[in-house]
Amino acid sequence: MAGGFAAGIVFPRTAADAAALVASARQVLPIGAQSSLTGGATPRGELLLSTRALTGIDVLSRSAVRAGAGVPLADLQRALASHGLYYPPVPTFEGAFVGGTIATNAAGAATFKYGSTRRWVEAVTIVLADGAVVTLGRGQAIASPDGVFELAYPSGRIVQIPVPQYRMPDVPKLSAGYYARTGMDLIDLFIGSEGTLGIIVDATLRVIPRPRRSLVLVTCDSEAQALAVTAALRQEAALSWRGEGPLDVAAIEYIDDRSLARLPAETFARAGVPRPTPSSVLLLAQVEVPNDDTAAMERLADVLGACGVADDPRIAAPADEREAARLLELREAVPAAVNAEIAAAKARVDPGLEKTAGDFVVPFERLDAALALYRETFEREGLEYAIWGHLSDGNLHPNVVPRSVDDMHRGTRALLEIARRVIAMGGAPLAEHGVGRSPLKQQMLRELYGEAGIAEMRAVKRALDPAWKLAPGVIVPSE
Ligand SMILES: Cc1cc2nc3c(=O)[nH]c(=O)nc-3n(C[C@H](O)[C@H](O)[C@H](O)COP(=O)(O)OP(=O)(O)OC[C@H]3O[C@@H](n4cnc5c(N)ncnc54)[C@H](O)[C@@H]3O)c2cc1C
Repeated sequence: MAGGFAAGIVFPRTAADAAALVASARQVLPIGAQSSLTGGATPRGELLLSTRALTGIDVLSRSAVRAGAGVPLADLQRALASHGLYYPPVPTFEGAFVGGTIATNAAGAATFKYGSTRRWVEAVTIVLADGAVVTLGRGQAIASPDGVFELAYPSGRIVQIPVPQYRMPDVPKLSAGYYARTGMDLIDLFIGSEGTLGIIVDATLRVIPRPRRSLVLVTCDSEAQALAVTAALRQEAALSWRGEGPLDVAAIEYIDDRSLARLPAETFARAGVPRPTPSSVLLLAQVEVPNDDTAAMERLADVLGACGVADDPRIAAPADEREAARLLELREAVPAAVNAEIAAAKARVDPGLEKTAGDFVVPFERLDAALALYRETFEREGLEYAIWGHLSDGNLHPNVVPRSVDDMHRGTRALLEIARRVIAMGGAPLAEHGVGRSPLKQQMLRELYGEAGIAEMRAVKRALDPAWKLAPGVIVPSE
């Protein structure tokens, strides 16, 4: 996010460097690639601790890698690829750093198959607010039955941390303040804590053999057809994971008609895809295939035919990286077009104009109701909007495209209203981007867990960082 001001910036190369810097600083904001969409990585006068120089990568085995917090995911994937390995829970932006993605419990397209970052983190080395360095492995520290952690500092000091009692919604991805469950693992408190409880300097991550992947672009004649195709593909995927079918779908991305209408003709020309008719929408699926993918592709054709999809899908086979890049570029063009439109309005109308977007997740069976809710709320307010995102998870990003400051304010109110109704549907308004310093997202967090929940998060923060030194004002306002 634009703006911000800092007391300075430091680039520690080791955990000991980072610890010394944190011990002597008054307030510290850890940053990774600063791709946060919530203002979480935008300084407000703190010392910026950039993890950029923490770049070691050590492939430990066929199932684990140790990586520095400052390793961009694209570099991690390149290093793993040379061993035939892969790290699955990648957000759409592969420039994000390992530390940043753990701090936000990032997720992405393939959460449907692989879950969010949390599931893949085996251990973290963290610098705590007083400069102590601790390494936490999964299974090493579990909350007591009465909901308290005891964290032993290297000095011998023991700190008690209360586990919040709020109930997290049952959704496939969630980046909504501190994780809280009965009998939870202490490592899970740090994952998704957005820099407020400790600074991650390195992590041990689980990895898998690199899957062979085809990309499949499907043109659907309506949103209803896209939902039917996605529901059918989800079922096929579940069968294949049980060894009962050939169609292993890992992700399905969605681009609505309003997003497509914003794309210039050159974007379609570059992708080699004809511009879809006005009410059409696109699905981009990742399908994992064995060497002989005939059975998977035949089953895919059957599913699309049964759902009434008229056009043949466009398929980028596993070896065809250029074709895959073309299809991914088409998807990436959507947020880029919306951002460009907002930047133009900002220059023309008011420098205070900003992107106003949601990050909602609902149980898959409520998706049609949720999509109707997003559309009706924006249309009632007379707002321009576009919707895209991770359809297979029920996680979409309805974006208001403000043409004026008034649109922006009405858009914010509309998103808050949607958040309340998404929560009532059993969903969450904070799926993968986190809470950060966005007043809207912090209000959504309050709607999700109530004032009591926010007080419980504050109690956790106070136990680990009583001076409110680390990432102050991120997730909850400072004391
Ligand atoms: C084009 C685009 C697409 C995106 N798509 C997705 C997506 O599909 N899924 C998704 O989840 N997100 C997505 N994002 C958001 C963003 O990429 C993620 O939140 C990402 O995890 C942030 O990583 P980062 O390294 O940029 O962290 P930053 O933005 O630098 O920091 C994010 C937060 O984490 C804290 N932090 C950073 N590093 C550390 C550390 N080492 N220790 C402790 N705290 C730390 C910061 O203080 C801040 O609060 C997207 C962003 C963009 C711009």
